[in-house]
Amino acid sequence: MIRTGIGYDSHRLVVGRPLVLGGQHIPHERGLEGHSDADAVAHALTDAILGAAALGDIGRLFPDADPRWKDADSMVLLRLACDRVVQGGFTPRQADITVILERPRLAPFIPAMVEGLSRVTGIPVGSLSVKAKTNEGMGFIGRGEGVAVMAVATVEST
Ligand code: MG
Repeated sequence: MIRTGIGYDSHRLVVGRPLVLGGQHIPHERGLEGHSDADAVAHALTDAILGAAALGDIGRLFPDADPRWKDADSMVLLRLACDRVVQGGFTPRQADITVILERPRLAPFIPAMVEGLSRVTGIPVGSLSVKAKTNEGMGFIGRGEGVAVMAVATVEST
């Protein structure tokens, strides 16, 4: 059986933090605020994969209040969530991700993001898509205050 999950995440852009998206460190004058490394791509994908398996969400698995996840590498959290999904009898098969960010341009980093996310999730590179767009200057994203990420993922029961 094929099942689909949806994930969404947003984080604030602030001075003095690294910008990490999809496991890639992206040079920029601001980065994402959060308890972990605030990698909104990894977080949205984690929620999509967990959602497809009906196994909760990232906040339930890795609570903000837990010091273990302070400054955590979100690619490690994604890996742990995938392990949980596999233990639950599902194999991640496919994912599609849209990053909405006004600046910087993400296009040069997308191949490395896809490769890294593929390695961590076990989803083949050809079935894992990352797309980036701006918000045409509108709203909090347009003002450069933050990033939003949407993801869908498909798992197959094994
Ligand atoms: Mg998050």
